[in-house]
Amino acid sequence: MYRSHTCGELRMEHAGQPVTLAGWVQTVRKFGSITFIDLRDRYGITQLLLGESLNALLDQQPLGREFVLQVKGTVTERTNKNPNIPTGDVEITVSEFTVLNGSKTPPFTIQDDTDGGDELRMKYRYLDLRRNLVKQNLTLRYRVNRSVRNFLDSRGFMDIETPYLIKSTPEGARDFVVPSRMNPNQFYALPQSPQTFKQLLMVSGYDRYYQIVKCFRDEDLRADRQPEFTQIDCEMSFVEQEDILNTFEEMTKHVFREIKGIEFNEPFPRMTWDDAMKFYGNDKPDIRFEMKLTDLGEAARGNGFKIFDEAELVVGINAAGCAEYTRKQLDELTEWVKRPQIGMSGLIYVKYNTDGSLKSSVDKFFNERGLQLFAEQCNANPGDLILILAGKEERTRKAMSELRLEMGERLGLRNNNEYKPLWVIDFPLFEYAEEENRWVARHHPFTAPKPEQLHLMDEPAKFGQIKANAYDIVLNGTEIGGGSIRIFQKDLQEKMFGALGMSKEEAQHKFGFLLGAFEYGAPPHGGIAFGFDRFCSLLGGSETIRDFIAFPKNNSGRDVMLDAPSEIDQVQLDELKLSLLK
Ligand code: ASP
Repeated sequence: MYRSHTCGELRMEHAGQPVTLAGWVQTVRKFGSITFIDLRDRYGITQLLLGESLNALLDQQPLGREFVLQVKGTVTERTNKNPNIPTGDVEITVSEFTVLNGSKTPPFTIQDDTDGGDELRMKYRYLDLRRNLVKQNLTLRYRVNRSVRNFLDSRGFMDIETPYLIKSTPEGARDFVVPSRMNPNQFYALPQSPQTFKQLLMVSGYDRYYQIVKCFRDEDLRADRQPEFTQIDCEMSFVEQEDILNTFEEMTKHVFREIKGIEFNEPFPRMTWDDAMKFYGNDKPDIRFEMKLTDLGEAARGNGFKIFDEAELVVGINAAGCAEYTRKQLDELTEWVKRPQIGMSGLIYVKYNTDGSLKSSVDKFFNERGLQLFAEQCNANPGDLILILAGKEERTRKAMSELRLEMGERLGLRNNNEYKPLWVIDFPLFEYAEEENRWVARHHPFTAPKPEQLHLMDEPAKFGQIKANAYDIVLNGTEIGGGSIRIFQKDLQEKMFGALGMSKEEAQHKFGFLLGAFEYGAPPHGGIAFGFDRFCSLLGGSETIRDFIAFPKNNSGRDVMLDAPSEIDQVQLDELKLSLLK
């Protein structure tokens, strides 16, 4: 063994012991005839003291940052203790050292507050991974992984691997494809998720399946998405929605208990999709704060103010305690809603002053009573500020949902150390895709409609009303998991494909394997998948999933360390019978 202990292990109780350590040089500090070295490994940092005789050696063989050293010596009590590190009471009085390997000067300092920018650290990710912060994130990820596995193992779930080279699995994104050399002109797709496989495993009788598994989606990368990411993927047979929600609520609680020491004593709240949209303007409500959306249509219309009169939706929020907002602050908020990402043409406010008077940007059209009505509907009190948006239904709702989050942020109501999970249930089964002029599955085509609405599957005009047994688990305004009860009858599955505009032949061609399996005794089943990277980043109090992935891609889907994607040799292209368009 190169070492008897790690660099994070030694304490006062080891004083006097001979030890051997190995690790990387973090810093070298020379003081006349003695030298201090901080030696680092995965477990921590230990101070080394090199006395006069060794110090002379250092003149012949200078040590630089990130050199790999092995040292032998004795654990000694430090005169200047460092309370900031666990090994800070001791140092090693070194009797012998060996340079196991040298190192070029690293392109950035390998410390908590590094001088390396994002791209540079990604290019040298193997060095970035030596940094404490990144190490803590990866350690957390590993612990969450263990915790999830322990829970699922204890509940009889079996980890079963599913293939990566498959046929397309539609989950709403584009597939990554892999050409087949042995089958020229044919392609595999990488799984967007193991969805159909886990369902087939249910048909095979493996009634509790899980996998912590890579999924691949070729999406335009919006902020903080990765083309390959990890899911905690689960499926159960002979269950109803209630069983799934309970099982995975327990799993979430288990992880919080083990990783964060947080106990959720109450059941997670449940909110229907309709309510989430109505009160929060989106399907992943951040319920760390209230500030619910209020429909002000009735109070707003009929007062001669054209913008309200012509709007499909007039919606307000109550920014409690903000009546003191200055003209400048209000102008700034107005500019904020006018940004192209939000896309509104203006913002209307009603100030409910502490003296009880009301002041608004639409005073011309509303008398005191009219403004009072807004205040009442928004449950506003003296001292509060009502912010109102009006316009096309969908855009206005979305904009208000963003403004609510922004106000929550500005008012400090979105604390990263506070965790507020909830279930959003009763999602619509379908969604109308305007560009394609057809209905698409809101979750995926294997999701079951509510049994009591089955008859509507024959009435395309009513598809918009059908709700699914589909659910998301949401944490602090982020969806961390989602799933559904599945269709398990061949007829219904065929009907579903038909509703999505697929012909019988097309359905057979794409999903013949699944439809076939449903003819051999498919049990009722359902499942869920958690976004593992995202879950970890939330548990780590960060917004960036990249920080929790050992070798992530950048926002354009590139691995800047490998420089991938990249061109391939002509020989490879020829073997694959591919030619490139210029
Ligand atoms: N496969 C689904 C997804 O990736 C999750 C599920 O329905 O279990 O979103």
